[in-house]
Amino acid sequence: MLTDERPNPKDTMSSASLESALRFPLAEQLPVLGGVLEVAPGLLWVRMGLPFALDHINLWLVRDHMPGPDGLIEGWTVVDCGIHNEATHHAWEQVFATELQGLPVLRVLVTHMHPDHMGSAHWLCERWQAPLWMNSTEYLSAQMATHGLSNFGGDLTQAFFARHGWSDPQDMRDVKARMGYYSGMVPQVPASYRRLLGGQSFNMGGHTWRCIAGYGHSPEHMALYCEARGILISGDMVLPKISTNVSVHAQEPEGNALQQFLTSLEAFGDLPDDTLVLPSHGRPFKGLHTRIAQLQEHHHDRLADLLAACQAKPMSAHDSLPILFKRELNFHQATFAMGEAVAHLHVLWHNGQVKRVLNADGVYRFGAI
Ligand SMILES: [Zn+2]
Repeated sequence: MLTDERPNPKDTMSSASLESALRFPLAEQLPVLGGVLEVAPGLLWVRMGLPFALDHINLWLVRDHMPGPDGLIEGWTVVDCGIHNEATHHAWEQVFATELQGLPVLRVLVTHMHPDHMGSAHWLCERWQAPLWMNSTEYLSAQMATHGLSNFGGDLTQAFFARHGWSDPQDMRDVKARMGYYSGMVPQVPASYRRLLGGQSFNMGGHTWRCIAGYGHSPEHMALYCEARGILISGDMVLPKISTNVSVHAQEPEGNALQQFLTSLEAFGDLPDDTLVLPSHGRPFKGLHTRIAQLQEHHHDRLADLLAACQAKPMSAHDSLPILFKRELNFHQATFAMGEAVAHLHVLWHNGQVKRVLNADGVYRFGAI
């Protein structure tokens, strides 16, 4: 589920010119599959493949130590895991064999429940008898989703999309049937975990890292910030090239995910601009304040476009897709685009800028007040 795969956004600037406003300390260097690239002392970048248009995820290894029965045990903390498949596990084994200096993985830390981050957590925790550290809302959402209660398919999701104007019968059958989407990539979730909370600090590699909670992309995303090292592991909350997927889902149909996301971004704006940002997709970069401003502008532009369109003629989320996304969307992209369209319309609705009417055809339309 590339929840981070934003389908063909209508950018006011090309992504190339947006990116050129940022600085990339490692230039074009990328870690090879099964290898690592050191981004800072004792902090290694691992890159795993994904079977989507967004074809990779960045994972991190932090040199660490943990108290053991006979004193400190030296090893590594893994931050995020990759989806659960043979290719990912094979690449991890190569990393373990060649890059860990013979030391074990001591802890598995997951920023959020999406399959590209969570999928191999169970495998890694079993492989190393290592504990999972994760936020509770994310952990419980992963447990529910792996048992079929996800926002990616089934009757509830189909009814939600239909209420927002998506009526194609074949698409609706496909949404209903899409029950194994999450569990296909996250077949199991570790049976226990250690809880992370926003604002909580913990020791990793002899440094204090602070959890920064983020909302709107996933239930309660944990980004990790180390002030002493000037490093932010941003997860999916701040990405250099693509804008994070922000969707309203069937389980919380009146949600205001985009407003929550925009509010969450403000917390990152308080960090120093020269922070080294380690994102889950794209390259490590500097220029955090510039990137936050770009993301805010991106969403505000789309909100302005949508408001003008709704004032001209009431529209459903499905009607609004061509306003937000300029190219044809395949089925997979459309599922994410619909969630994003509802998220944008809900900002306007919750702000009192448009009204929502349930029409006789059972579809919500958003129009002028
Ligand atoms: Zn994500």
